[in-house]
Amino acid sequence: MLSWPDAYMPPALAGIKHPTLQLFDSYKGKKVDILGEQSSIYICGITPYDATHMGHAATYLTFDLVNRYLKASGKNVSFVENITDIDDPLLERATRDNQDWRELAESQIELFREDMTSLGVLPPNAYRGVIESMDEIISTVAEMIATGKSYQLEGDIYLDLNQVDGAIENLPIALEQALKIFEERGGDPARAGKRHALDPLLWKARKGDDPFWEAPFGQGRPGWHIECTAIALKNLPKASSTSITLQAGGSDLIFPHHYMTALQAKALTGVEFASCYSHSGMIGLDGEKMSKSKGNLVFVSKLRQEGVSPALIRIALFANRYSTDRMWSRELVDEANKLLTRLLSALSRQEVAPTFEVVQEIVNAISDDLNTPKVFDLLNTWSLKTEEGQVGGSPGEISRALDTYLGITL
Ligand code: ZN
Repeated sequence: MLSWPDAYMPPALAGIKHPTLQLFDSYKGKKVDILGEQSSIYICGITPYDATHMGHAATYLTFDLVNRYLKASGKNVSFVENITDIDDPLLERATRDNQDWRELAESQIELFREDMTSLGVLPPNAYRGVIESMDEIISTVAEMIATGKSYQLEGDIYLDLNQVDGAIENLPIALEQALKIFEERGGDPARAGKRHALDPLLWKARKGDDPFWEAPFGQGRPGWHIECTAIALKNLPKASSTSITLQAGGSDLIFPHHYMTALQAKALTGVEFASCYSHSGMIGLDGEKMSKSKGNLVFVSKLRQEGVSPALIRIALFANRYSTDRMWSRELVDEANKLLTRLLSALSRQEVAPTFEVVQEIVNAISDDLNTPKVFDLLNTWSLKTEEGQVGGSPGEISRALDTYLGITL
């Protein structure tokens, strides 16, 4: 799948030290070190029927910070993102709107590319659609069948969680809640004949007029979670002791999607899928969660049309920690604008407060689980010191750091 154009990322300033990046791991419940010279990152992409709202933007901008930090610290980063270009919600939306599902997907993918380009998100090394990855997915399902850990139910194929060590014991939430969320997010816990209510679907047999693909185990299409397992395992270089370094996405993917993706990978390879599972918080509006069903989505394209710059979007989204659920508001944009105006005014001076130490502190803050509120505090303080007449710095060092680490091009 065509990605979007690369964005220039200036290298780190000479002499800046990059502490090991620490990210909060949603399953371990603590910060973990992102180690190794090779970082393999898998980010779950969009289902292309409603691109790109602020929830999406928050996720891809969060992991853009991770990508930038690792690259600036000299790591070799392989980054893969998928697009769920065949899925029930996409088909349902297309049917509802009397539109061809392929055309709907293509138009939304194009909009997503435009949004990512305008936001300055570094593109993935591989941007993989599910449809173009079908051979990889089918061979992954075949590998799973060969392990003997799957079973058939009226032509559909499920993973037997009872045969995967710790699958039920290590659920990140209570079983009762897991069953509820599993159903809400497309699962079928109540289906008669399943060995365990949470067993994830690997392959859905051809039904009615739905699109289908030929596979040795029957015509049909893949389950949601196995798509990401397959694309991640087949497109990323292996990390040191796990299959990949980081699995990332929005916190609504913690369960079941990322849990099942990782379990399936472990069932196939015998090793832990990722060394870190990191999730960005949900973005709400007017006190409510932003969601398609509530119809209160704020779109990046709309904000762009209204003249809200990518720099303002980034500052407003990261005024609070990436991992927290937070509200999007006009006030947030106004606050971001105040900071940016003050910063631009300081940067336009010939004499500015010392900068190298500030850049080092910015780097330290980002390495600490992307502490962006602290970064903006540091920038604000530096602007104030400059206004007060402190001297000795170089404005170029600040603007370069903004570009390198935050993707903010002034
Ligand atoms: Zn995924």
